[in-house]
Amino acid sequence: MIEVQDVWFGYEGRDVLKGVSFKFDGGVMAIVGPNGSGKTTLVKHLNGLLKPRKGKVIVDGLDTREHTVAELSRIVGYVFQNPETMFFEESVYREVAFGPKNLGLDDDEVERNVQWALEMVGLSGYEDRSPFSLSGGEKQRLAIACILAMRPKYLVLDEPTTGLDGRAVRGLVKVIKGLVEEGHGVILVTHDMELVLELADRVMLLREGRVTFDGPVDEFFSLDLESLGLEKPELLKIAEEAGIGFVRTVDDVARLIT
Ligand code: ADP
Repeated sequence: MIEVQDVWFGYEGRDVLKGVSFKFDGGVMAIVGPNGSGKTTLVKHLNGLLKPRKGKVIVDGLDTREHTVAELSRIVGYVFQNPETMFFEESVYREVAFGPKNLGLDDDEVERNVQWALEMVGLSGYEDRSPFSLSGGEKQRLAIACILAMRPKYLVLDEPTTGLDGRAVRGLVKVIKGLVEEGHGVILVTHDMELVLELADRVMLLREGRVTFDGPVDEFFSLDLESLGLEKPELLKIAEEAGIGFVRTVDDVARLIT
């Protein structure tokens, strides 16, 4: 369980998070909101990269103020925005092995974790490739593998579809669905409403450092998204025009129309 209790945080004396609270215990939660509303600042608290000025973050019973990022990263893995800037090894294998080695795991365990993580993201067979030779979508999946290899229970993905084409997004969606099936909790920070519709069970809306909505995905999409500066997914517009209720996939539409 991730518990965020009345968290306040600011940079240079200016508050960016103003009393954020929520609990998360699995499934897929999307965190959405305008640029600058504090989404990245908030998720950096979940593995201890940032510590609250006031309030607490507890992950599986550990208070983040009392534990290191390395310890917390075994529970909550955080995949940065623009992950390619993180790569520095000459091969995909070494890149993915870096995290688990750093945690002090023995060679067999490192090997097992790397193979499993590459399998999960569909990059088995890429072990000897240079990370820098991969496509944008492959780099994003490699970044996920690097974090997965530390076997965290929860995964935080910060704007994972930025810069990806449609096909790469399909690949990413498949990876995330696979992770959820394996019992991982996933927190997605995103502007991509199509991704929210397809994957999220729950949506949290952040505005100026406060949670202004936290509820199920169908309730979220019944809000006036335009006034929030968010684009309603095409699929929901089509469903609306056809006079059918909330849908998540093209198959839903087909089923409800016929
Ligand atoms: P979001 O992810 O919703 O776009 P951020 O958490 O990145 O929001 O940023 C929230 C606010 O904090 C913004 O006004 C941003 O300029 C500011 N901010 C973010 N990181 C820093 C930093 N390292 N130093 C100073 N201000 C920052």
